[in-house]
Amino acid sequence: MRISEIFNKKEVVISFEIFPPKPNGDVNKIYNTLDELKILNPDYISVTYGAGGSFINNKTIDLASKVKNEYNIESVAHLTCIKSTKKDIDKILKLLKNNNIENILALRGDVTGNCTCGDFKYASDLISYVKMYNDFNIAGACYPEGHPACITLDEDIRNLKLKVDCGVNNLVSQLFFDNNIFYNFLDKVYSANIDVPIQSGVMPVVNKKQIERIISLCGATFPKKFMKIVDKYEYDAIALRDAGIAYSVEQIIDLVSSGVKGVHIYTMNNPIVAKSIIKNISSIVSCINKRSIDEFGRN
Ligand code: FAD
Repeated sequence: MRISEIFNKKEVVISFEIFPPKPNGDVNKIYNTLDELKILNPDYISVTYGAGGSFINNKTIDLASKVKNEYNIESVAHLTCIKSTKKDIDKILKLLKNNNIENILALRGDVTGNCTCGDFKYASDLISYVKMYNDFNIAGACYPEGHPACITLDEDIRNLKLKVDCGVNNLVSQLFFDNNIFYNFLDKVYSANIDVPIQSGVMPVVNKKQIERIISLCGATFPKKFMKIVDKYEYDAIALRDAGIAYSVEQIIDLVSSGVKGVHIYTMNNPIVAKSIIKNISSIVSCINKRSIDEFGRN
């Protein structure tokens, strides 16, 4: 099923993000994770693509295929383009189609060093290209605090509008910890006439290493309330995990109660964390989805 159909049926879409095992990693671990995630009944699971991925990077397709064809959960394959040629992308799209995968999160990928080997400069180039196949639902990424390479948020949103106009069906946001940042972003996005469904990205932060990684990769703003938790519990792994989960639950309840169309949970392949979150939000999400069926006859 295409993700856009899920958005048509539901008021709130809940999805998980996982990543493929490292080259010498234990493959069984990811299957155990999927066994646990399946019980939580997500609307879909997305599978990340190695940074600057090349065609050799088929692990994403293998895993997205397992999610879809063996676990019977809708899957989204991430696909980056900065180092790819059109020929590479043709091969990948063929493989995705052969594996019955209908959904792609089309991304540029991070620019590292001299990235002049590919045929695509921006995600929008990839989106226009994939669109020609007419076989896929295409999601794009968006950045509530602005993409790190962009000088202003307004400029980033102008670029986002160009990207959406190339054929994006839905957007998934970068993680953020302050919902007001996301609400301000939505106001600007709607003013720019971007009207595709936007899922908010939420990452439960359960250890200190994760925080350092987030700072180095995307520079998300950490609100005082969040830092208080980290400072207080950073030396107690269980306390920090539980406080991090509680923070995400509170964030998600506020988001869905404010009418946000969906939440994409960055699980970091940790089913225990995903389970705790879903346990705490499932009645709320069901209530919203049920009410929308009653009011608008969605099914
Ligand atoms: P783009 O939309 O191309 O934007 C990149 C930059 O270029 C922005 O600053 C934008 O404002 C600017 N820009 C865009 N179009 C134009 C234009 N026409 N003219 C001038 N400037 C322009 N990375 C991975 O390697 N693997 C993954 O699996 C992965 N998954 C992700 C999932 C999500 C939900 C998110 C939010 C990010 C993910 N990333 C992943 C990271 C992503 O690849 C990087 O953030 C990358 O730097 C930008 O990708 P993009 O698709 O947003 O790029």
